[in-house]
Amino acid sequence: MEEAKRISQLPPYLFARIEKTIEKAKAEGIDVISLGIGDPDRPTPGHIIDKLCEQGHNPANHRYPSSVGMLAYREAVASYYQNRFGVELDPKTEVVNLIGSKEGIAHISFCYLDPGDVALIPDPGYPVYGIGALLSGAEPYIMPLTAENRFVPDLDAIPVDIAKKAKLMFINYPNNPTGAIADDDFYKKLIAFAKEYDIIVCHDAAYQDISFDGYRAPSFLEYPGAKEVGIEFGSCSKSYNMTGWRVAWAVGHPRVIEAMGRIKSNIDSGCFQAVQHAAIAALTGPQVFTTEMSEVYQERRDIIVEGLNNLGWQLEKTKSTIYIWAPVPKGYNSISFAEFVFEKTGVVITPGNGYGKYGEGYFRIALTVEKDRMVEAINRFRELGTLQF
Ligand code: PLP
Repeated sequence: MEEAKRISQLPPYLFARIEKTIEKAKAEGIDVISLGIGDPDRPTPGHIIDKLCEQGHNPANHRYPSSVGMLAYREAVASYYQNRFGVELDPKTEVVNLIGSKEGIAHISFCYLDPGDVALIPDPGYPVYGIGALLSGAEPYIMPLTAENRFVPDLDAIPVDIAKKAKLMFINYPNNPTGAIADDDFYKKLIAFAKEYDIIVCHDAAYQDISFDGYRAPSFLEYPGAKEVGIEFGSCSKSYNMTGWRVAWAVGHPRVIEAMGRIKSNIDSGCFQAVQHAAIAALTGPQVFTTEMSEVYQERRDIIVEGLNNLGWQLEKTKSTIYIWAPVPKGYNSISFAEFVFEKTGVVITPGNGYGKYGEGYFRIALTVEKDRMVEAINRFRELGTLQF
């Protein structure tokens, strides 16, 4: 059985490998603390679960849903954008439902990339951007995110011939894995760049509701001209602790949204309507939950950043996301340090090179375990002995 080239070139999904290591260690009786996967540990708020249960009993929801989402769902996304960002969206033409934003991020490449086309991909970055481009036969062009440029791509460094060939650019702020945020100047420059070279900006805003120290993450669509050059992906996953529910959206340029709807109607049959009703309850209900979760993550961030800094790191406190991105000590690479930490302490961290070659030399910690386990993880880090930086 020979696999198609398109799939044989796919790496195993990073976390599938990490899961296997964790399972094996647990079976051996090791008390594993997993700071690996960015999957919120707290439950979905009760009013959202109640809505699912209520709507699960309604036979109208037992039939095929629309691929682009119920109008009521798209209206709820539009009202969230109005209330949260002051951005106006037409729910009929500028919003599409997604079965998790991962689904849309992978499929957008099928809408716009032909073999030989170029997609501009941040590195380190969420692996799905590059995978979508590869599956479409296109060429990913890497935009390095480095500490020197505060993990924001240097648009001036993209060669003109590449920019001319590029059809899509993936951007993600607040950023996974680096925790970086982008400022107004970057977004203004990005929109001008996209206009000049006729590039569709795909802004991934999966972490837009988690922010610290008074910071408030903007939507890409708040910036003048953004809707003419791109779309934004958003999701209930991290905002409302709903990663398992698979409900998200893309919003923005109507032609891009229409193309996404067209590809979806040919590939999937949409998201269970009871889940869409639950997402409506999330998006239109009390938003205090996102503030409370941000406070929880902020406290965990402080434990990790202050704990690592006491051990010799020099990390700044991130303003958003559920991640801490830190350099490995001297004498290690990403993999060897993650292995060393796991063997010595039973703490799982993610090697930075899993997010691309510019992630080499870093590791990522997810803030998705309770405070006492964070403190325990830092205490175990002390057993690593003296580290050089
Ligand atoms: N984008 C980024 C940057 C992510 O880190 C994730 C999940 O971890 C996603 C998108 C996908 O989120 P979902 O498919 O759950 O909406």
